[in-house]
Amino acid sequence: MEKKRLIYADNAATTRMSHVAFEEMSKFMFDSYANASQPYSFARTAKKALLESREIIADCIGASHPEEILFTSCGTESDNWIISHFGIDGANIITSPIEHKAILNPCKKAKEKGCNIKVLSVNSFGEVEFDSLQSLIDDKTVLVSVMTANNEIGTIQDIEKLARITHSKGIPFHTDAVQAVGHIPINVNSLDVDYLSASAHKFNGPKGIGFLYKKSGQNLGSYVCGGTQEFGLRAGTENIAAIIAMAKALQENCAKIEHNIRHIKKLEETLLSLLKIGNLDFKRNGVNQLPGNISLSFKDKNGEAILHRLDLMSICVSTGSACDSNTTQISHVLKAIKLDPSYALGTIRISLSKDNTEEEMKAIAFSINKIVSN
Ligand code: PLP
Repeated sequence: MEKKRLIYADNAATTRMSHVAFEEMSKFMFDSYANASQPYSFARTAKKALLESREIIADCIGASHPEEILFTSCGTESDNWIISHFGIDGANIITSPIEHKAILNPCKKAKEKGCNIKVLSVNSFGEVEFDSLQSLIDDKTVLVSVMTANNEIGTIQDIEKLARITHSKGIPFHTDAVQAVGHIPINVNSLDVDYLSASAHKFNGPKGIGFLYKKSGQNLGSYVCGGTQEFGLRAGTENIAAIIAMAKALQENCAKIEHNIRHIKKLEETLLSLLKIGNLDFKRNGVNQLPGNISLSFKDKNGEAILHRLDLMSICVSTGSACDSNTTQISHVLKAIKLDPSYALGTIRISLSKDNTEEEMKAIAFSINKIVSN
């Protein structure tokens, strides 16, 4: 029997690696594999690639200096670094209830150490309410951290305004931009953020590498102690192959960002219009959303069951609810936006990429219409 072609529509979970990035990566694994800290000439190419990667990434996100880019192992590490630096006894950190666990769980740890974690209000689209930020800031607030775009429902926050309110009280602002970098234009200077987290595998780079942007002059304690790598802040021999691949993948995406957005938005329109024809009872979350991040909630249906039926049809999507062995639980994000449980339990997330096609949208819509109307 002919195997069905896989349709990958879970790009918010991870993306396929770029060929350019892969080729670059292999050069540094097999040819220029030297430790960038060594003084001999064989290490020069690796050292140069490290510098060049910082420059490329700084350029892609509008940073003023390459030294503002610090390499980490992933988005989770970048988020953990920030929260562990600021989350000290007696301090207050303000964050949103729809952050990724990479922020929420370090916040829980910080709370155990005596740090207060204050949680912002969000509306039914997941947008942070500005008044709640104004009212939560006090003289013990040391950091405000709000994600740029949500991984589950795609909501894009007004980071510029949130940073402005935060700065008006002299407090630094961090954003987890893991879902946004490489997908929508990001300029750290015009957003005026002090720290930003990103992860390569979300923008067609390799897994196991990410970065943290730290504005010049802002504080940050060392996270991994040892050698002097990453300006003495994060020790450990640099993974040059992954770093250069991350930089090249980001550069490739940023060069075509408007083109990719147009393509993905068109796919999204096709998919939604075909689902409407199916006359299904579903809600689509959000107003200002990440292109291609489509959260669909089907009334009185089970998201896990839809996911597994789609899987049988070789279509990969994700759910908005996490299943443990006995019960299906509504995710913290859907709870925070107070989505009616009759819809929340039937939520799936389809996340598209530049590689998806119109044909795939037809196949996804056809399959969903079939599964949900049964
Ligand atoms: N932050 C957000 C918003 C994410 O979506 C993710 C991953 O899904 C992370 C952080 C963690 O990134 P990584 O997988 O690189 O650790």
